[in-house]
Amino acid sequence: MTTRSETKTTLAQLLTEIEDRNPAQPEFLQAVHEVLETLAPVIAARPEYAEPGLIERLCEPERQVMFRVPWQDDRGRVHVNRGFRVEFNSALGPYKGGLRFHPSVNLGVIKFLGFEQIFKNALTGLGIGGGKGGSDFQPHGRSDAEVMRFCQSFMTELYRHIGEHTDVPAGDIGVGGREIGYLFGQYRRITNRWESVLTGKGQGWGGSLIRPEATGYGNVLFAAAMLRQRGEDLEGRTAVVSGSGNVAIYTIEKLAALGANAVTCSDSSGYVVDEKGIDLDLLKQIKEVERGRVDTYAERRGASARFVPGGRVWEVPADIALPSATQNELNSDDAATLIGNGVKVVSEGANMPTTPDAVDLFQQAGIAFGPGKAANAGGVAVSALEMAQNHARTSWTADRVEEELTHIMNDIHTTCHETAERYGAPGDYVTGANIAGFERVADAMLAQGVI
Ligand code: GLU
Repeated sequence: MTTRSETKTTLAQLLTEIEDRNPAQPEFLQAVHEVLETLAPVIAARPEYAEPGLIERLCEPERQVMFRVPWQDDRGRVHVNRGFRVEFNSALGPYKGGLRFHPSVNLGVIKFLGFEQIFKNALTGLGIGGGKGGSDFQPHGRSDAEVMRFCQSFMTELYRHIGEHTDVPAGDIGVGGREIGYLFGQYRRITNRWESVLTGKGQGWGGSLIRPEATGYGNVLFAAAMLRQRGEDLEGRTAVVSGSGNVAIYTIEKLAALGANAVTCSDSSGYVVDEKGIDLDLLKQIKEVERGRVDTYAERRGASARFVPGGRVWEVPADIALPSATQNELNSDDAATLIGNGVKVVSEGANMPTTPDAVDLFQQAGIAFGPGKAANAGGVAVSALEMAQNHARTSWTADRVEEELTHIMNDIHTTCHETAERYGAPGDYVTGANIAGFERVADAMLAQGVI
């Protein structure tokens, strides 16, 4: 019988080995660390998980592809970017996860995102493995023609590694409906196949209704479920939301629908605080139509809104905090400020936006904390529903998709909550999400042998 402290030593040794093998990948190591440090109770209870190199296999991607992406700008100048696809784990289904186009992208960032995706996708219960990809390309400030040429070059290499039963990419930061359209067009042209190889497609040519809304809506539903567990609700609450992309916009929309009020949004230049609540039509016009910045929102909104250059939304007092921009955007100082201002719930719309010391502070203060793997799984869940609709050559109504999404988010909440209780960590959604996701993947890997 393995004791819990022996298990901890083994996990600590494994972590050291993984650190040695993956130098200069801090985000990946942070994500691995966060999962492994919560697995001791489940491995102590079920030692078969530790034996056939299962954790080592889980932390090593099944396949990693890196490639050159040359493209020409509108003046004819040639640029060379780097493309990535990390196919991390396919025990539960085809690799599934987004593509991120942002200058900060490197192999370690894509590996962290792919690693998180394994557990997130397992929590949806929908038969999808984990993967992630992207490029250090910056679409912001580029013309549509330049973005199209970049996407066509990117897909000219990527197409040989993906397929509806192999690997199904989607959007993430910097990749929305426009980019998915260009990528899909090039895939179809090269392969002569119309297949469900990408999700987040346009409505009218295979895209699911509610897919653009799903990550933000899902995160608010998860926050509502955590509040309900404590006998409370969203009605009349004030929320701080970071970011101003697709996740932030539909987070703000769902908060309003459920009676709460989002008073902030942000981008890399600073944030906007609007005491009347964010005007969604104006924000959508600036971000989705004009592809502009949030300072324009404050200029046009009038007296209720103010732009704070270089500031962080976490300094604005609120009951609910929904980080929806990017990794490590909420640190321990921000957490202390939020706690001081009486925050009740923190739920991650982005992937790993909260630093580990900030998570510790929230948990010590007894604040309900929803980790991204669980809380932002609504996006990829509706992607899996898009695949199901494509395979059946049908499309569901918005109501039907939203009903499924609500059911999935409530189910993920219950699973995480019950798993945390079962392993002696009541109310700890981080432990609950990691163990529940791990059990599903680990059982499939054990059954499928050493591969
Ligand atoms: N990029 C999203 C995520 O982080 C969605 C992935 C997908 O729809 O495949 O989960």
